[in-house]
Amino acid sequence: MEENILKISGNTKVYTVIGNPIHHSKSPNMHNAAFSKLGINACYVPLAPNENEVEHICDLVRYNVISGSNVTIPYKEEVVKYIDVLTNEAKLIGSVNTLYSIDNKLHGHNTDGLGFSRSLFIDNSFEPAEKKAIVLGAGGASKAICSKLCSNKISSLLIFDIDHEKALELKEHLESFNFKTDIKIISQNEVDQISKESDLIVNCTPIGMKESDPELINSDCFKKTQFVYDLIYSPSKTKLLISAETKGAKIINGLDMLAYQGAESFSLWEKVDPPYEIMSQELRYGK
Ligand code: NAP
Repeated sequence: MEENILKISGNTKVYTVIGNPIHHSKSPNMHNAAFSKLGINACYVPLAPNENEVEHICDLVRYNVISGSNVTIPYKEEVVKYIDVLTNEAKLIGSVNTLYSIDNKLHGHNTDGLGFSRSLFIDNSFEPAEKKAIVLGAGGASKAICSKLCSNKISSLLIFDIDHEKALELKEHLESFNFKTDIKIISQNEVDQISKESDLIVNCTPIGMKESDPELINSDCFKKTQFVYDLIYSPSKTKLLISAETKGAKIINGLDMLAYQGAESFSLWEKVDPPYEIMSQELRYGK
């Protein structure tokens, strides 16, 4: 297949992703693949600013020196204080993963929740009404996942994080929206039993990325009727997903969520249809 090579010129627009560390990010691969395939004169580069440099980067986006940016760990909440206009979705999730400027006003949006919703509710036809979900981890990604579960009317949501304070903060944030969902914080020793009773299990911790990581949930707790979603996409099957699949559960990894959220940011910036297929192909088969 003919490969379009990105050519940098005096008119090339620059997009970025900011985070620290950032070297592992797949976002540059998928965005640059989309610019290249769609013939858009732009490039997307990773930046690893220190905390005191984040405001400066926000200014560069505000004044269109940088045409738009994604934001990842640990700055998704940090950037909120520099934003002029927060979208409703960013308010709901409580963090920002996409920056863009309109008339020199810095806008903050979040596309993570949409990525998760599309892959779970649409692609995998998960019906949340009358369902019980357990979510492991209460960090940045979990905020997006939990707000989408609640806004899509999941009946019961149980959250566990090794940092109890973080789980409490997330619960308070979710409760401020008066969702009908019954939200509870659980302890480590309740995880296995509640997993057994849950229709949906979501891993929003980084546990599973390394070969040496422990099992998050005992393999006896999975069953055929469950959906088990791991936000991790590398490896494509974590120990959690392998265990769940062995017991016949429906498993989903984080790859589609990543492609959907990236395609949505791209669409906002370039005002084109979200290039989901290009991004998904790049993540699956790109070098
Ligand atoms: P984060 O903000 O660091 O949150 C992770 C949370 O999990 C932290 O509160 C952490 O506590 C907690 N935790 C760690 N080990 C735990 C355990 N054994 N049990 C329960 N909680 C535990 O990270 P994040 O941004 O939410 O990302 C989480 C994962 O999702 C990462 O693997 C990331 O790559 C993935 N992700 C995927 C996508 C996608 O599009 N597929 C998007 C975003 C994130 P401590 O801080 O105390 O360690």
